[in-house]
Amino acid sequence: MHIAVIGTGYVGLVTGACFAEFGVDVTCVDIDSKKIARLSAGEMPIYEPGLEQLVTKNMQSGRLRFTTEIKQAVEQALVIFLAVGTPPQSDGSPDLSFVEAAARSVAEHMNGYKVIVTKSTVPIGTGEYLRKLIREQQKSRLNFGIVSNPEFLREGAAINDFMRPDRVVLGSRDEEAIAIMRDLYRPLYLMEAPFVLTSLEAAELTKYAANAFLATKISFINEIANLCESIGCDVHDVAKAIGMDRRIGSKFLHPGPGFGGSCFPKDTQALASVAREFGRDSMIVDAVIEVNRRQRQAMVPKIEKLVGDLQGKTVAILGLAFKPETNDMREAPAIDIISELLKHGAIVRAYDPVSMKESADVLPEVTYLADEYEAVTNADALVFVTEWNQFRALDMRRIRDLMKTPKIADLRNIYEPADMRELGFEYIGVGR
Ligand code: NAD
Repeated sequence: MHIAVIGTGYVGLVTGACFAEFGVDVTCVDIDSKKIARLSAGEMPIYEPGLEQLVTKNMQSGRLRFTTEIKQAVEQALVIFLAVGTPPQSDGSPDLSFVEAAARSVAEHMNGYKVIVTKSTVPIGTGEYLRKLIREQQKSRLNFGIVSNPEFLREGAAINDFMRPDRVVLGSRDEEAIAIMRDLYRPLYLMEAPFVLTSLEAAELTKYAANAFLATKISFINEIANLCESIGCDVHDVAKAIGMDRRIGSKFLHPGPGFGGSCFPKDTQALASVAREFGRDSMIVDAVIEVNRRQRQAMVPKIEKLVGDLQGKTVAILGLAFKPETNDMREAPAIDIISELLKHGAIVRAYDPVSMKESADVLPEVTYLADEYEAVTNADALVFVTEWNQFRALDMRRIRDLMKTPKIADLRNIYEPADMRELGFEYIGVGR
């Protein structure tokens, strides 16, 4: 089977490479010619563990190719995935212009029956809207099916999440399209991955509901963490104990500087906007967004409490990307924290294993160093912003000796407070 993936970003590239690995012929399309040139030369535009090997292997086997020419890709494909961005607009609702543009191009080049699948996270009703749009834009009347197949992969673990998903959601009322999608996902059926077959609208809402629920767990534990600070107890004990209840589960109960990334902030806003559109309240989601905003704002005052007046102080930041194992800086807490530190007159030195180039585009005032030890040299304080595994095994004695004053704001609770105090650090975490 031939498929086309329109939009070769985090989701499109992983989707294309994984389907090629399943034995499908895949053409990945993007309007960004530089990205396509890099990919065609075997160079990855993003950092994602295991991706380069998977892409190279499948390009060599001839099953995966990259192009800016949508016409041929659409003509060859039976299934066309739309995996373009849906960034938030100023009112919180998603900008559908990329999805519309991609759907128009697909309509223009259709030469037979196609299954058109939204992988992008789109508002409820988008599938039906695309059905009408494509119908109107077609040059001649050709049949097609519309499917919503939301993506749940996590950056940093994207390939494993695609290959071993908790579930695959397929929303459609077109039986032929569903049969073709089942065939395409056969390797996952054989591995007994659960499939949820539902309506277009339920599939579209599932993605927003899932992300909003995960964001709720984060804001909830951050609220409990702040309470722990006032009470004088450790949020990790509380999180561990509540997480042992299987109805709650232990995942996503890690306190920190607030959620970021390209999905949770955007998708919580979008769900609130969907609720408004349907005349419903979104009290829980609104609170989740507000708690997160406050949590992000509370980080610099925390650092200031540790360091005193920030004017002229040198702050070393370890970790810049919004989470470990990615170079994605979209909505990263580091951006807010560093911008605020700079506003207060601090000098910022930073290190991240993979995202310093991306970070320099948004935060050019920062000095980027070659490793953790260079970053902390002569610093008045060290702030952990992203919990990369390599930060868990640092030589903390060496760090202490390199710093001007041994002070740590551990915004991811990487280290044990008692251990750090024993080493002579003044240490604060979140909720402990
Ligand atoms: P991205 O910005 O990394 O990639 C989008 C790509 O689409 C870009 O390369 C862009 O050049 C391309 N594009 C835009 N218009 C195009 C057009 N008309 N034709 C061809 N290409 C076009 O975005 P992403 O992070 O991969 O997200 C894509 C969608 O998937 C979004 O709706 C997002 O919410 C959703 N999603 C993302 C994640 C994630 O972890 N990043 C997870 C699940 C779902």
